[in-house]
Amino acid sequence: MIFTPTFWLKNVMQIDKRFLKKNRVRALVLDMDNTLSMHDDPAAEDGVLEWLDEMRRLGVKMRVVSNNNARRVAPLAKALGLKYTANGAKPLTFGVNRAVKAMGVLKSETLVVGDQIFTDVMAGNLAGIRTVLVEPFHLENKWTFKLKRRVESMVFHRDYRNLNVK
Ligand SMILES: [Mg+2]
Repeated sequence: MIFTPTFWLKNVMQIDKRFLKKNRVRALVLDMDNTLSMHDDPAAEDGVLEWLDEMRRLGVKMRVVSNNNARRVAPLAKALGLKYTANGAKPLTFGVNRAVKAMGVLKSETLVVGDQIFTDVMAGNLAGIRTVLVEPFHLENKWTFKLKRRVESMVFHRDYRNLNVK
């Protein structure tokens, strides 16, 4: 189903060597806001830098595709040492497809990782790439965001405590 992620994880740090090997993953298309850092936070969440280093050590290719603008995405992506696409327009697929091409990998060995069903998961599914839905680091107070979350929880009964599927 177009809204259904392949994997549900608490956060990106749960993507580890074992998970990558088991699922034959060599590349990650990463969302930024609430996946690598809190929304509009200039710094990465605790543990993310170390996790990125570990992924690099394991030879995992990574690229950020964010729907946010370059003014937001560029500084953090640079700090994290990641190439990026801003204004990625997920759930449209061109940003994700371009990232896969730029990394020189197959879709079948790639995961699209993000915290939102209606952008990240949909984009991956529409592009024919497996997806990882992570719990957002921080729930914003904007009413639009709250509404979106409520719709998601009504439709999908998201309960992270029981959905640590590895
Ligand atoms: Mg996000």
